[in-house]
Amino acid sequence: MYSTAFLDLPPLQAAAGEVHLPGSKSISNRVLLLAALSSGTTTVHDLLASDDTRVMLDALRQIGCVVDESGGSTVRITGLGGSTPLSPAKLFMGNAGTAMRPLTAALALLGGEFELSGVPRMHERPIGDLVDALRQLGCQIDYLGNDGYPPLHIAHGQGVPALALAAPIRVRGDVSSQFLTALLMALPLAAVHQPVVIEVVGELISKPYISITLQLLARFGIAVEHQNWQRFTIAAGSSYQSPGDIHVEADASSASYFIALGAIATSATGQKDAKSGIKIQGVGLDSIQGDIRFVEAARAMGAVITGGPNWLQIERGAWPLQAIDLDCNHIPDAAMTLAVMALYADGTTTLRNIASWRVKETDRIAAMATELRKLGATVEEGADFIRVTPPVRVQDWKPASIHTYDDHRVAMCFSLAAFNPAALPVRIEDPKCVAKTFPDYFEALFSVAQVAAPQIPVICIDGPTASGKGTVAAAVAQRLGYGFLDSGAMYRITALAALRAGLAIDADHEARIATLAQTLPVRFEGGKVWLGSDDVTEAIRTEEAGMNASRVSALPAVRTALVDLQHSFRRLPGLVADGRDMGTVIFPDAPLKVFLTASAACRAERRYKQLISKGFSASIDDLRADLEARDARDSSRSVAPLKPAQEALVLDNSDLTIEQAVEKVLSWWQERQPFAASAQR
Ligand code: C5P
Repeated sequence: MYSTAFLDLPPLQAAAGEVHLPGSKSISNRVLLLAALSSGTTTVHDLLASDDTRVMLDALRQIGCVVDESGGSTVRITGLGGSTPLSPAKLFMGNAGTAMRPLTAALALLGGEFELSGVPRMHERPIGDLVDALRQLGCQIDYLGNDGYPPLHIAHGQGVPALALAAPIRVRGDVSSQFLTALLMALPLAAVHQPVVIEVVGELISKPYISITLQLLARFGIAVEHQNWQRFTIAAGSSYQSPGDIHVEADASSASYFIALGAIATSATGQKDAKSGIKIQGVGLDSIQGDIRFVEAARAMGAVITGGPNWLQIERGAWPLQAIDLDCNHIPDAAMTLAVMALYADGTTTLRNIASWRVKETDRIAAMATELRKLGATVEEGADFIRVTPPVRVQDWKPASIHTYDDHRVAMCFSLAAFNPAALPVRIEDPKCVAKTFPDYFEALFSVAQVAAPQIPVICIDGPTASGKGTVAAAVAQRLGYGFLDSGAMYRITALAALRAGLAIDADHEARIATLAQTLPVRFEGGKVWLGSDDVTEAIRTEEAGMNASRVSALPAVRTALVDLQHSFRRLPGLVADGRDMGTVIFPDAPLKVFLTASAACRAERRYKQLISKGFSASIDDLRADLEARDARDSSRSVAPLKPAQEALVLDNSDLTIEQAVEKVLSWWQERQPFAASAQR
C-alpha cells in the first residue's frame, strides 16, 4: 500500500496480464454479520482485508464473538447464536456504511447498551430512515449529535425488546439501500413466531445490493420473499444457520477499474508471445454482485469482454470509446469508472439516476465533476446526473493533482486518467484511501501496466562516500512512493561474493568476478539484503567491505556486468537511485540528477558516529584518510569516474540536516512536475 502524501502516475499507454482481485466489501461485511448472528463457527474464505472489514471484525469481537484471524484471508467467526451480546460497548465504525447500518439494526434488536460512532464524514451520512424504522418497532435509539445522523446510542434493558410486529415495518428505499439491507439482515431475529413484513416507501434504489443481501441470507438459512422489490416477507421460524464454509467473491466494483483498463489500454508490447488484454480472476459473468453489470456498460462503450464463472477477459475494442447515455441506478459504484472512461469517448457521456452518489464517502457527483474538470473535461452536474465531455484536442488536457476526498473509488478511477493522449502524469493525492476496499490497488495496476523504461521517472543522487546520499535517497524514495536503488550495495555484494568464492579482487580475476556479478542472487527485502539464502545486510556495511567495493568497482568488466541489474530497478511508479555514476552512466536520461557532497571533515565525522552507534570502534583520522583515498580512486578511475553529471544540481549538505537535504531534493523534483505546487497539501 502507498502511504505517501501523493502518488504521481507517469503517463501510461499499454497494459496486459492477469490480476487477482480482493474480496467484495459488500459480501464480506454481510457475511461477517450473518456469521456473528448464527450459532456455530463459520469459516469465511477470501475475506477482503480492508478498513471497512477491520471495523466490522473489531466490533464483532467487542460484542462477544470469537474471531480467529490467524489464517490470513480465511477468518473463522463463532457467532452469538442467540446469546446476548456483551454490553455496554462503544463501537467505532470508521467510515464504513456497510458496518454502521446493519450493526445498528442488529444491536437494536439484540438488546444491550451501545454507542456507535465513526469518522466525521460518517457523522454526515444519513441514518434517520433506519432509526425511524427501528423506533417504529419499539427499539430505543437516541442521536448523540445531529438528529438523523450518527453517533447513536442504543439502550435497552437486557434481552430482546418487545417488538411491534403486527403491522409491516416501513422504511424508505430512496436514500440508501443499506437501510433495507440492515433490516433484512437483523429482523430474522424477530421472526421466530411470526413472519415479519417490511414495506419499502418510495422507489428502491440499488436493487442489486438487496439481491446480494437476499442471496447471502439464503446461504445462512433465512428465506425472504419479495413482491416487486416493495414488500419483503421474512418467514416465521427463521433462524440463522451457519453454512460452515463460505467463499467471498472478488469485488465486482473493483473489477470495474481493470475492465476499464482493458478497454482503454493498448496491448502492444512489441514482445513476442506477450499476453494481450487484461484477465481478471476471482469474479465472473455469473457473479451475484450487481456491479457485474458494469460489463454491459463497458461493452456499450467499446470494450470486448468474455468471461466464465470465475474470470473475465477484456480487450480494447472500439477506439475512441463510444459515448453513452445510461441510467446507472443498477451500478451506482462502478458507474464512477464510466465517468472517467468518458474522458476517452467520442462525444458527451451522460450518467443518470445517480443521486445516491451525493451521500456516499463524499458527495461523489461534486467530487467527480471537480476532478474531471481539472483534467480539462467539460462537466455538467445535476442533482442526480453527471454529463462529461472529454477535452477536445490533445493540448486541452491538463496536468492534474487529483484530490481524493478520503474516497477509495475516486482514487482508483482517476488512476485511469494516466492513459491520457497528452502523456501527462497524474497525481493522486492521499493514495492510501484505497485501503477501504483495495489496499494494493496501485500495486495491481503497476503489475499489468507496461511502460517503456524511459517513461519511468528516475531521480539520481550521486556523490562521494559518506555524503549522506544513501539516507537522503531512501527518504526521498519513501516520500514519493518510489523504489530505491542503492547501487553501492551492488559493488559491496559483488566484492563479498568474490572473496567468498576465493577470488582476489584484482585485474587478473576481472573476467571471473564479472561473471559472478552477472548472476548475483541478490534480493532486497524488508530492509535486508540477501545473497542467496544469506542475510548480508551487516557484512556489506563494514569499512573493509566499502574498500573492497571501491576496488571491485574499478574493474570495467564488473561495471558492465552490473548494468542490467541496475536497470531492472527502473519500475513503476519511479525510482530513486544513489551511487557514483547513476546520472552519468546508468540513467543518463534521468529527469533529475543531484550531486550530494559534504566536506571531508564532515563526512569523516558522520561515518565515525555511524560506526560508533553500531558498536564498531573507529578513529576519525583513519576514517578521513580512508575516505579521501576512496574519493581519489573513485574520481581517477578510467571508467565511470566519480563526477557530477553535466546537468546535475550540486547540493553541499555539510550544514544541512537530513530532513533539509530531503526537502531540497523534493522541491527540485516538484519544480520539474507540471502540477502547481499549491496542489500539494
Ligand atoms: O556508496 P557506497 O559507499 O556503498 O559504495 C561503495 C563503493 O562502490 C564506492 O566507494 C564506489 O567505489 C563504488 N560504487 C561505484 N559506483 C556506484 C556506487 C558505488 O563505483 N554507482
